[in-house]
Amino acid sequence: MRPVRPTLKALKQLANYSDAAKQAWDEAHRKYAAGEENPLFGLTLSQLDDELLRSASKVSAEYVHTNPHKAASQAAGRNVYEIRAAGGLRAALIFDEEGDPWVVFAASHDEFHSQVAGQLQKSHSSDWLPKNVDYVARTKEEAIEQAEKVEVSLIQDFFEAVKCAVSAEGGTVECSVPTIAHTVIKYIQLSITVDASADFLLEESGREEGLLLLDVSLTDPGDTLAKEGLLRLVNYLQPDESKVDFRQGCDYQTYHVEAWLTEARIAQIVAATVSETGVAEAVCQMRKSPPAQAVLHYTDKTLLAQGLVLGRSVRGLCGKWFVPTQDESCGKSVCPHCEGIQPVIKGIFQSPESGSE
Ligand SMILES: [Zn+2]
Repeated sequence: MRPVRPTLKALKQLANYSDAAKQAWDEAHRKYAAGEENPLFGLTLSQLDDELLRSASKVSAEYVHTNPHKAASQAAGRNVYEIRAAGGLRAALIFDEEGDPWVVFAASHDEFHSQVAGQLQKSHSSDWLPKNVDYVARTKEEAIEQAEKVEVSLIQDFFEAVKCAVSAEGGTVECSVPTIAHTVIKYIQLSITVDASADFLLEESGREEGLLLLDVSLTDPGDTLAKEGLLRLVNYLQPDESKVDFRQGCDYQTYHVEAWLTEARIAQIVAATVSETGVAEAVCQMRKSPPAQAVLHYTDKTLLAQGLVLGRSVRGLCGKWFVPTQDESCGKSVCPHCEGIQPVIKGIFQSPESGSE
C-alpha cells in the first residue's frame, strides 16, 4: 500500500488549515498561473508535514480496526473513514480500487459533519474520487523519489570505495562502482588513489595546504558514458569545478579525474561509512535552524549522501545541522565535538615522513 495522499481538491481544502498544504498549493498554483508546462512537478504530497495527513497515515495502516463514518459511507457507497487532528480538524479517508489511501475531503469539525455525506455522494464520485491528474502527479512524484534513492545509493557505494582507498596500503584501490549515465545504471572500472603526500604537487599547482589529491582513473578512456558517470560521482565530493582536473593518462590507457579535497572532507566521508544512524540519533540534539558550516561534521553515510544529492540539511553527530553541498572550502577542519564523539581514522593521513618532523 502506498502512503496517504490528498487529492488536489482536498489539498486546496487543507490549505485553509495547514501551512505545509498552503505552501504546496500556492506553489502549484503559481506555476500554473505562470503557464508552466508542468505545474505539478516537484509537488511531494506523500511527504507533506501536515497533522491531518499524519493522522490519516496511522488510520490507513490500521483501517481494519477503525469503524467507517456511517452517513458518509452510506452516501459514498464505499467506506469513508473520519480522520481527526488537533484544533477540531477533520478529513475523509477512502481507499481506491487498488487499495491505496486518499484524503478526499477536509474541513473544520462542524463543517465536516454537516457536509461530508453531501459532498461525497456516490452519484458525484467523479468530483471527489482521485482523478487522472491526481494519479499523474503521484506517478511523477514516485519517479523522482525512485531516482533520488538510486542516486543516494550510488554515492554511498562511491564513499565505500573512497574509504577503501584511504585505508588501503599505498592509498590505492581497484574497484567497480555503479553510476548513472544517460538514465542507465552502469558499472565502471576504477582505480582510486587518495594521495596524502601530494604536498610536492601543491606548490606547482598553486593549491592550498591541507588539500588531498583524490585521483580516480577510468580504465577505459574511450568510454564516454563512463566518463559522464564518473564526473557525476566526483562532483558530489567536490562541487567546486576549479578544484577538479581531468587528464588523459600518459599511456592513453586511462582517463583521470583529479579532485582536491580537504583532509576534513575525506575524514567526513570515511567517518560516514563507519558511523551508525542509531549513534547519530542518540547523540544529536535537535537544533531549530541550520547554522553556517564553518567546520565539517561527521554524520551517517545515508544522511551525508542524501544531503549531497538532495541539498537537504542533515544532522551531525554533535547535533548541529548542516548542508553538505555547501562550499567545502569553508570547512577545512572537522568539528571538535564530532571528533570527540566518533574517534575515527586518526593518523591515517600521517605518512611516516610527515610524522617524523
Ligand atoms: Zn559536529
